[in-house]
Amino acid sequence: MGLYDRLRNRLTKTRSAISDGISGVFRGGRPMDDELLAELEALLYTSDLGPLATELIEELGRLHRRGELAGEEDVRLALRRKLLAELEHAGASGELPLTHSPTVVLIVGVNGSGKTTTIAKLAHRARQHGGKRVLVGACDTWRAAAADQLEIWTQRAGADIVRKHEGADPAAVAFETMDAALAKGSDVVLVDTAGRLHTQKNLMLELEKIQRVLAKRIEGAPHEVLLVLDGTNGQNAIQQAKLFAESVAITGVVVTKLDGTARGGAVFTIARELGLPVRYLGTGEALESLEPFEPEAFVDAILATGAQSTA
Ligand code: GDP
Ligand code: MG
Repeated sequence: MGLYDRLRNRLTKTRSAISDGISGVFRGGRPMDDELLAELEALLYTSDLGPLATELIEELGRLHRRGELAGEEDVRLALRRKLLAELEHAGASGELPLTHSPTVVLIVGVNGSGKTTTIAKLAHRARQHGGKRVLVGACDTWRAAAADQLEIWTQRAGADIVRKHEGADPAAVAFETMDAALAKGSDVVLVDTAGRLHTQKNLMLELEKIQRVLAKRIEGAPHEVLLVLDGTNGQNAIQQAKLFAESVAITGVVVTKLDGTARGGAVFTIARELGLPVRYLGTGEALESLEPFEPEAFVDAILATGAQSTA
């Protein structure tokens, strides 16, 4: 099954909100008018497109007045064009380049956003698709359960792990992880971090410290800093992102939990507001449920446009 079909299957709620929503608005051969446009706007809002929803509807209104929108199919294609242009603005996206040896990737984000799960999925992906040697550093020492969870996932993915006891200094784990990566000749190092400390300030200081340790041991590390955002969190996710960006130089975003939510439009809001590449989408709880973010496949999956690919 190709990416488009997998996304169609996993993003059913967002697709149904947007694509089935569009069909619903046009049901019975209704003509395009202001009332219909208002209904379209409402359904785009529901899927968390934010201010973009209004811009899209304004564009549809303009096209309609120029006589360029005959009906449902034209509306879908106009939305497709605008949404793709929107993502193009946000810059590069898709699969992480793993060009350094090792490539060190620091994973940050608030508690529960899906960091640990995403690390397991990334480890699995690097093993499956590139046969890479993957090492995971368990720098979330806040709860023993966090490292236990990570260890189970990591084993399942066929990756190695460096972990210490609960309450250990995360920077010390980062240090050992770098040493182990050099000793083992790892290709990819994924560094898990805590999402909650006593205060926001503590958390940010800790992340800065981990970063310094990584940079000291391996030149240019971390090569990537991925911010993991819960896709069901809407505007909150954007606020969180801005806080993290004050302490770490984020290079890309992973949007999780897009299965089971109708709010997949948040991906556009996130891309626009942060101006950072969206690298991956989390589409479930399994190791395989991580997809590279490819604008065309994503837009086509939620609008039900595009070829029914079988590749
Ligand atoms: P962390 O605190 O940031 O490390 O978050 P976890 O990785 O522990 O994930 C928190 C919860 O979200 C867990 O129950 C995961 O199974 C769930 N989760 C993570 N990613 C996804 C996803 O893409 N889809 C779904 N449905 N659940 C997810
Ligand atoms: Mg975790």
